[in-house]
Amino acid sequence: MIPVAFDYQRATSVDDAIAKLTASGGKAIAGGHSLVPLMKLRLSEPGTLVDISKIPGLSGVKEAGGKIEIGATTTHAEIAGSKLLRDKCPILAEAAAEIGDPQVRNRGTIGGSLAHADPASDLPAVAIALDADIQIKGRSGARTVKAAAFFRGFYDVDLAAGELIVAVHVTPVRSAAYAKLHQRASHYAIVGAAVALDVKGGVIQSARVGLTGATTHAIRLAGVEKALAGKKADGVAAAVASAAGEAGDLNADLHASADYRKAMIPVFVKRAVERALARG
Ligand SMILES: Cc1cc2nc3c(=O)[nH]c(=O)nc-3n(C[C@H](O)[C@H](O)[C@H](O)COP(=O)(O)OP(=O)(O)OC[C@H]3O[C@@H](n4cnc5c(N)ncnc54)[C@H](O)[C@@H]3O)c2cc1C
Repeated sequence: MIPVAFDYQRATSVDDAIAKLTASGGKAIAGGHSLVPLMKLRLSEPGTLVDISKIPGLSGVKEAGGKIEIGATTTHAEIAGSKLLRDKCPILAEAAAEIGDPQVRNRGTIGGSLAHADPASDLPAVAIALDADIQIKGRSGARTVKAAAFFRGFYDVDLAAGELIVAVHVTPVRSAAYAKLHQRASHYAIVGAAVALDVKGGVIQSARVGLTGATTHAIRLAGVEKALAGKKADGVAAAVASAAGEAGDLNADLHASADYRKAMIPVFVKRAVERALARG
């Protein structure tokens, strides 16, 4: 449970962090709540840690041009407590409030959560449902990736060595909700469903559905989205019935079998849709 020896450097700006990461070949550390456990297990052995947690301007939630920008080092607790998010995009604040425990929420960051992409983490599914833009910066400049394309596989995301997530941009949606079946000890998702709806007169015009905990990485359920379009509350159960089939190969671990996840996926997708619909 003791990591290998490593150098520690504190970055003073995003460009400084990128330069330090490039020069050292090391890893960024934000909240350390995913990276440090991996280092203690020696599953990750970076020679250098570049601390990005104190970079001025890299954390915070603000509104600009009809979008909400969340800085990469914004903690889960800050997101959970954000009045702007609670008012305009409550799914993000509510999902962040369900992460782990107060210690985890006070240290863990949105950038760390998305970059680490634990198959059971909450925010990737929410980012997919909100069609979030993930803003990335590296040596060769800045780029933006849609959340659904960012998560590629088991702990695999669209980030090159030396690149950093700098912010997440979302268009605020009120008719959106997250529902998860959580592991009792850690609160990680066994199955977590995030749903964002466009609703008019009680009828779903369009839907976006993200699923986490069930497969190697968070995925979008495009078939369920299609089936939900045009439905009212009484059509939701039928529309989400195929959700587990669409998810493909399901995880099986000490927390739940693949069959149990298969049974729970439509239950939690339906709950999320119903909560989002109730927000009208
Ligand atoms: C006991 C416990 C319970 C937890 N429960 C939950 C839970 O219920 N739900 C949940 O979703 N999560 C849970 N987590 C995980 C927690 O949310 C982590 O904080 C989060 O996943 C990682 O964020 P971090 O800032 O701690 O990242 P770090 O641990 O600092 O970094 C993780 C990885 O991301 C990289 N990284 C960090 N920031 C950036 C960036 N801006 N750009 C590029 N790469 C970056 C690092 O290099 C590293 O590879 C739990 C963790 C613990 C220890």
